[in-house]
Amino acid sequence: MSTPTSHPAANASVRAFSLKDFLSSFFLVELLKGMRLTGKYAFRSKITLEYPEEKTPLSPRFRGLHALRRYENGEERCIACKLCEAVCPAMAITIESDIRQDGSRRTTRYDIDLSKCIFCGFCEESCPVDSIVETNILEYHGEKRGDLYFTKEMLLAVGDRYESEIAMSKSADAKYR
Ligand code: SF4
Ligand code: SF4
Repeated sequence: MSTPTSHPAANASVRAFSLKDFLSSFFLVELLKGMRLTGKYAFRSKITLEYPEEKTPLSPRFRGLHALRRYENGEERCIACKLCEAVCPAMAITIESDIRQDGSRRTTRYDIDLSKCIFCGFCEESCPVDSIVETNILEYHGEKRGDLYFTKEMLLAVGDRYESEIAMSKSADAKYR
């Protein structure tokens, strides 16, 4: 009984393959191919960045850390309509509200559990007064359980600090909405 490699045609093919392999190794063909590719890109402008010193541009629609915004007079925008809470697919938002002495409705509690959030942006899309937004802040972290639970005060503080950047992103994106 004959084995597959005992067939004369198969043996010739193995010999031819081995010779080609041998010549390729002997003349360092693969190495030269690699060096040619390296040489091709060595003097082109770099497409990589030295993060975190260098950063790529971000879209005005980038969905990073959340913030609650205020109007220019310092009044918080949120009117406690709870649309963001209702639309949030991760159920990450918890809102409680009350009527103030001036008759306006405002939140007494506005929490976002960022460990649940999937950064879908639905809360921002649903907000009728551009109160809850997602900023372009992406470099933040938590070290222990609860660090990513953002309260109303924390969200307002983010909004206060980055209002100019948030307003610029909103205005850059306005013509596409
Ligand atoms: S981005 Fe999406 S998941 Fe996160 S709080 Fe907003 S609606 Fe919820
Ligand atoms: S953040 Fe916007 S959508 Fe959410 S409760 Fe306040 S006003 Fe309504």
